Amino acid sequence: MSTVAPAFNNLRQSIADFSVAEIAKKFGTPTYVYDMATIEKRVADLAAFDVIRYAQKANSNIAILDRLRRLGVVVDAVSVGEVKRALAAGFSIHGDTHPIVYTADVFDRAALEMIRENGLHVNCGSPDMIDQLGEVCPGANITLRINPGFGHGHSQKTNTGGPQSKHGIWIDQVDDCLRRADLYNIAVTGIHMHIGSGTDLEHLSQVCGALEKVAMNVGRTLKMISAGGGLPVPYRDGQEYVDLDQYFQLWDASRKRLEAHFGHKLSLEIEPGRYLVAESGYLITEIRAIKKMGENTFYLLDTGFNDLARPILYGSYHPIAIAHQTPKRHAPELDVVVGGPLCESGDIFTQEEGGFVSKRRLPAASVGDYLVMEVAGAYGFVMASNYNGRYRAEEVLIENGKLHSIRHRESFEDLIRGETIPAVS
Ligand SMILES: *Cc1c(COP(=O)(O)O)cnc(C)c1O
Repeated sequence: MSTVAPAFNNLRQSIADFSVAEIAKKFGTPTYVYDMATIEKRVADLAAFDVIRYAQKANSNIAILDRLRRLGVVVDAVSVGEVKRALAAGFSIHGDTHPIVYTADVFDRAALEMIRENGLHVNCGSPDMIDQLGEVCPGANITLRINPGFGHGHSQKTNTGGPQSKHGIWIDQVDDCLRRADLYNIAVTGIHMHIGSGTDLEHLSQVCGALEKVAMNVGRTLKMISAGGGLPVPYRDGQEYVDLDQYFQLWDASRKRLEAHFGHKLSLEIEPGRYLVAESGYLITEIRAIKKMGENTFYLLDTGFNDLARPILYGSYHPIAIAHQTPKRHAPELDVVVGGPLCESGDIFTQEEGGFVSKRRLPAASVGDYLVMEVAGAYGFVMASNYNGRYRAEEVLIENGKLHSIRHRESFEDLIRGETIPAVS
């Protein structure tokens, strides 16, 4: 299966049959909108895998988690808060395929305490975690997250393998980990490798080879291997999807070789975040000012990196489209810089890695028209902050022809929750 890459258009009137203006009027701006039908398609794409484990850090709204659960997807959690989100969305701690797995490189004390109480399955990314878990849950089963010694990511900050990555257990330390596990009667039942977002297939066969070696070393307690996440999605014209058929075949071949070696079945998991939700999401904003600075034209919005941080963090590119208040089929185009309202010169959506400001060819627009940031469903709202005293945006789900608010826009009460002014003595 390989999906044809989308063609992005810089004019957009609607999202899943709802006009952008209608959504904006109903919920205000900025608003994140997610189209459930897109999420369903992405889940269906991965049906060949035995288990789809969603890395909820990409978008952890409990409505999204609930719907994914209903589609048979299980989850990863990287903190106590994410475990509780999963529970709030109806996942249980125990079950066939570990409905919730805690996967991290450290236990903070709260996480270890929670796991002592509820026996949640852990995917260990550091040898110290094995001893710490052994002390509170001797006899547990664990998964090991392995760093194969090389990595691959679409940017330096999303590369999660190799010596500069803090993630996973270095491949030479597996023996040491097995000794530590033995001390506490802990069995390693799974091997996991997540080597970064933006995986390519040539690279992948190397990863599979490394995983097989580790698996042989771990031995017959093994019941599961995980391909990790990192499936890319196209963010601009010319970018392609990974060939999922080939991707699956490579992992399946590894799985089958290991099954033949061990003489028992192994489950094959995949652990996507971005792939399941990125394309479902849109950030609807309003253009609040248009100004010329020398030769540059700026469209300034009512949203900044407080709502969508990927451009300032990684120089990420998001497709941008204009939705005019009164729909237009055509409009003259010009090169513009798109920025936000924050008191910070880096608050620019059209920037490249390193902070270089670039321009985008967009339709002419006026103040009051809408600007939609697309492919914003992953690492969008979850990275939002209250910087500059901004209320985090509304989140809306489109499902079966209906609009549902799945998170209200924040209020001033949310902004100062937990703050107190001590009495003056
Ligand atoms: C972030 C993460 C993922 C998901 O990465 P994507 O690039 O969003 O697919 C999967 N597994 C682990 C352990 C992660 O930390």
